[in-house]
Amino acid sequence: MRDSQPSFILGVDIGGTKVATLVVDGAGAPVASLLVPTDRTSPEATLSGVLTAIEQTLAQANLRPDQLHAVGMGVPGRVNSVSGEVDLAVNLNWHGIALGATVSERLGVPCFLENDVRAAALGVYRFCLERPVASFAYISVGTGISAGIIFEGHLHRGARGMAGEIGHISLERSGPRCPCGLRGCLETLAAGPAIASQAQIALAAGRPSLLQQLDHQQLTAADVYAAAAANDALACEITTQAGRYIAQAIHQIALTCDIEHIVLGGGVAQARDEFLRPIRRELAQMAAESPLVESLIDPSAVRLVPAGYAAGCWGAVAVAEAGVAATLTLETVPQQEEVR
Ligand SMILES: [Zn+2]
Repeated sequence: MRDSQPSFILGVDIGGTKVATLVVDGAGAPVASLLVPTDRTSPEATLSGVLTAIEQTLAQANLRPDQLHAVGMGVPGRVNSVSGEVDLAVNLNWHGIALGATVSERLGVPCFLENDVRAAALGVYRFCLERPVASFAYISVGTGISAGIIFEGHLHRGARGMAGEIGHISLERSGPRCPCGLRGCLETLAAGPAIASQAQIALAAGRPSLLQQLDHQQLTAADVYAAAAANDALACEITTQAGRYIAQAIHQIALTCDIEHIVLGGGVAQARDEFLRPIRRELAQMAAESPLVESLIDPSAVRLVPAGYAAGCWGAVAVAEAGVAATLTLETVPQQEEVR
C-alpha cells in the first residue's frame, strides 16, 4: 500500500573521508543511518558511492524512494543551491557536478543542496537551540574554518554564496601564507593542520613537551589539545593562542552581524572544554576591557555543539525541510499576484 503523503526526509552529509546518511520520519524521529567511507578513486566513483549509500540507507529503513518527501545534502565546497550543482568541492575533486538533478532523477523526489557548514548551521539552529533567536552563527573549526549565519530563521548565503567564509579573515598580515593568497588567515593560525604544524615546528626546535614522545609527523590537533589537558606548557601555549584568534573572529562576526547566539563545532571542537576554554577566556578578557564587547558578547552564550551530535546529517535534513518550505512559498506567490 502506498502512503498518500510521503513524509520521510533523507539527509546526506558528504565529507572528504566519509559519507553519512540519516532518515527521519514525519515526526522528525531518526529511523535509519549509515556511515561509509567516501570513494575518492574518481569524481564519478564518489557520486556513485553516494547513490549506493542512499540506496543502502533506504533498504535499512525498509523504505521505497516514493516514501521520501525530499532529500537534503551537505557538500564540502561551493554549491549552487538553486541549480543543484556542485560548482567546486576540492576534497571530492568535483567541478560542476549536477548532484541535485542526479539524485532527484534516481529517486524521483526533490533534492536540495547546501554547503556542509551552512547546512550544519541550519541543523543546529533548527534542532539544537532551546529557543528561537533572531541571529545565529555556527562556526566549524576543523581542517578549515567557516561559518553559517542565520537571520530570522533564514540562512544568509550572500551575493556569491560565500557568506561565512571567516577562515580567510586575515588576522596576521605577516603570518603563514594561505592557499587563498593572503597571509595570516584565521585558518592558517587556528584550524587543525595549523595547530599540528605549530607543535611540529616547536618540537623540531627542541621544545620540551609531552608531545616529544609522539611521532612528530603524525601529530594532530587532537594530540595537542590532549597534551594541553595534561597541562603541557607548549600545548597550552598553542591552544591558548588558537583560542585568541578564534575569539577575534567571533568578535568580528558579533560586531558585523550582532549575533545573539554562537555555537562551535567541527573536528577540532571535539576537544570539547579544552578547545572552548581559551576562547571564552579571551572573550571574557575582551569584555573586561570594553563595555562595547561586553554589551555584544556573552562568553557563556558561546557554546559547543552537543557531544556526538551528527551536525552534518541533521543539517542535511534541515536543508531538505527548508527547501520544501521555500518551494511551497514560491508556489503560492504567483497566486497572490494574480489576485492583485
Ligand atoms: Zn586565506
